[in-house]
Amino acid sequence: MLRLEKLVKTYKTGDQALQAVDMDIPEGQVLALIGPSGAGKTTMLYCIAGLIDNMEGSIYWGETDLLQLKSKDRTHYRSDHIGMIFQDFHLFDELGALTNASLSAMYVHQSERVNLKKHAKVILEHLGLDDINAPVNRLSGGERQRVAIARALAQQKSILLADEPTASLNREMADPLIDDLISYVKAEGQTLITVSHDINLLSQMDRTLELKGGNITNSTKVKAL
Ligand code: ADP
Ligand code: MG
Repeated sequence: MLRLEKLVKTYKTGDQALQAVDMDIPEGQVLALIGPSGAGKTTMLYCIAGLIDNMEGSIYWGETDLLQLKSKDRTHYRSDHIGMIFQDFHLFDELGALTNASLSAMYVHQSERVNLKKHAKVILEHLGLDDINAPVNRLSGGERQRVAIARALAQQKSILLADEPTASLNREMADPLIDDLISYVKAEGQTLITVSHDINLLSQMDRTLELKGGNITNSTKVKAL
């Protein structure tokens, strides 16, 4: 349902971050992108989210090529289909955990607002956050990561993109969070595309793709769907 065709991204600096990448991602697949720093992993996530301009090639979502959409329509596509967990969390420090986790409630229709907030609360509690009203600048790195994950999950989008979601956590914190994230994504039938080098996370993926110098150099089908 998501298909990248000959996707090329050259930054203004001349860095060719993606070189004619082809990739098919079936609905419901959980997929990890691996590869050295500078390989193009983050660029690929941002492309799929429709956040990067001046690209060549195609990003098909069903029949629609995202790169042919006007920027307003691409924003709609993103808000309809994509949830994101950023590497540096992108939380609002002075707001509480629950407010952060239900932030997208500000943009949804009134009728969905209550539901989204309820859902965010359930997820935060499920992820083991004790004080859901504490301003997030008082939380630890692991707790902030939980809030960022809860925010993405609460939106219940069909595609979840995550950039090294456990990079800032130690083993004991990372393991339960990874297990929760993956079981949640699978139960909801979401597609997950995550950059990660975490062994525990990788062992639970349907597929691992390796990027190097903007090319896919290896694709491992760990599990059939
Ligand atoms: P990764 O996430 O695998 O470390 P990135 O996608 O961040 O790789 O970067 C891929 C390449 O593109 C690198 O050479 C990087 O320097 C370059 N790059 C990334 N973002 C930008 C940017 N905003 N402007 C210019 N070059 C960039
Ligand atoms: Mg990166």
